[in-house]
Amino acid sequence: MPQRNDNLMDKITSLAKRRGFVFPGSEIYGGLANTWDYGPAGVELKNNIKQAWWKFFVKDREDVVGIDAAILMNSKVWEASGHVAGFNDALIDCRACKARIRADHLIEDALNMKAEGMTPEDMTKLINENKIKCPVCEKIDFTEARKFGLMFKTFQGVTEEDKNIIYLRPETAQAMFVNFKNVLNSTNKKIPFGIAQIGKSFRNEITPGNFIFRTVEFEQMEIEYFINEKDWKKLFEYWQNEMAKWLEFIGIKKENYSIREHDQDELSHYSKRTIDFEYDFPFGTKELYGLAYRTNFDLMSHQNSSGQTMEYFDAENNRKYIPHVIEPTFGVDRTVLATMIDAYTEEEAPTSDGKTEMRVVMKFNKNIAPVKVAILPLSKKENLSKKAKEVFDLVKNEFTCQYDESQSIGKRYRRQDEIGTPYCVTVDFESLEDDAVTIRDRDSMKQERVKIEELVEWLKKAF
Ligand code: ATP
Repeated sequence: MPQRNDNLMDKITSLAKRRGFVFPGSEIYGGLANTWDYGPAGVELKNNIKQAWWKFFVKDREDVVGIDAAILMNSKVWEASGHVAGFNDALIDCRACKARIRADHLIEDALNMKAEGMTPEDMTKLINENKIKCPVCEKIDFTEARKFGLMFKTFQGVTEEDKNIIYLRPETAQAMFVNFKNVLNSTNKKIPFGIAQIGKSFRNEITPGNFIFRTVEFEQMEIEYFINEKDWKKLFEYWQNEMAKWLEFIGIKKENYSIREHDQDELSHYSKRTIDFEYDFPFGTKELYGLAYRTNFDLMSHQNSSGQTMEYFDAENNRKYIPHVIEPTFGVDRTVLATMIDAYTEEEAPTSDGKTEMRVVMKFNKNIAPVKVAILPLSKKENLSKKAKEVFDLVKNEFTCQYDESQSIGKRYRRQDEIGTPYCVTVDFESLEDDAVTIRDRDSMKQERVKIEELVEWLKKAF
């Protein structure tokens, strides 16, 4: 069980830095707020999650195809989608300490109620009536809540004029709507079918930290699943199940997440039903993923704005209609964080001299562990290195593998435990005689002697 104590986030943030999962962005220049860089272990973990997702939801299915669209899109896309007019957060400033805070989060934390969807005026009233204190300096001296746009702007071309403004996409979803007809015409898919995409999104968010939970640049894995309106209820249930299966596949424990139904007044204007998959983060129970029934709002808006038809021809019933959409959406970085929290384990382990010591081990599901196998020669002696490198060459074609001959074997085990490597293979002096190696299991720490020629098969069975 992960220790859900107050300093769990500090422990995970420091392990992330120590072992190369995640570093603060632009660190040597004092950082850049809410940006983080993935290090050698982190990029493997993140790539494994994205690849597993793509296989699970795209390659293994006949009814979902993928795209990889440009991050920069014609600004008319964001006008039609409603983002230019409505994608903003109500922020409030503390006059005393100058902290800028999201008004909905302030209310949610202080009054334990959902404030999404409320007007800035209502939020200001509620904050004043309940005399909510500034979470930073504890004074009660707030400005009125005001709306701030969440989209990053930049300019295309040489002149920085308003007419050249373009936006960094705040979600990947719109590219699937804009390409609906292209995909339909190039694949001959029949409804129901989905278009999936993994990619970066950008939001100019004010955040209270919480590591990679909320960042200004992040990755999303989204599916727009196009359906006939009459089927929405059963397909909503179906996708809820698929999302739960995915969580099980990556090893998120059932007891650590729950489902929250959005209230009617919390729903986006286009959505008839939305649920959140919420994870019990150490800093609170918060959204990990979302599932929304978006009606035919998006395709309809793009049809109206672009003048291009978004209709689907249903040959069986000889009728045309604008498809409705179920949208399962997943944050990559929140998945990385949840898997790290779920995997983090402190436990007592025996030492070689018969005592016990505390070990930290990242018990990642083997599917997503950043490094699958570590090859560790017992010493740096030349003949052992040579043998160990032969073993490395044998295994590296099949599994993400690491070769490490620095430091004592104990320290190297500790390092691999903290990266979450499922199997450590040690090459010792006996290996030179018997052509066998010792495999150490990350979780049980049990050791087994295996012939080198049988090693790859042994590992294949174990994964
Ligand atoms: P929140 O309420 O936490 O701001 P949201 O409801 O705005 O999230 P969506 O617009 O539904 O989020 O985005 C889909 C998914 O993208 C979320 O479930 C989350 O996993 C991820 N996500 C959204 N915003 C961020 C962010 N700033 N940083 C990291 N991941 C994010």
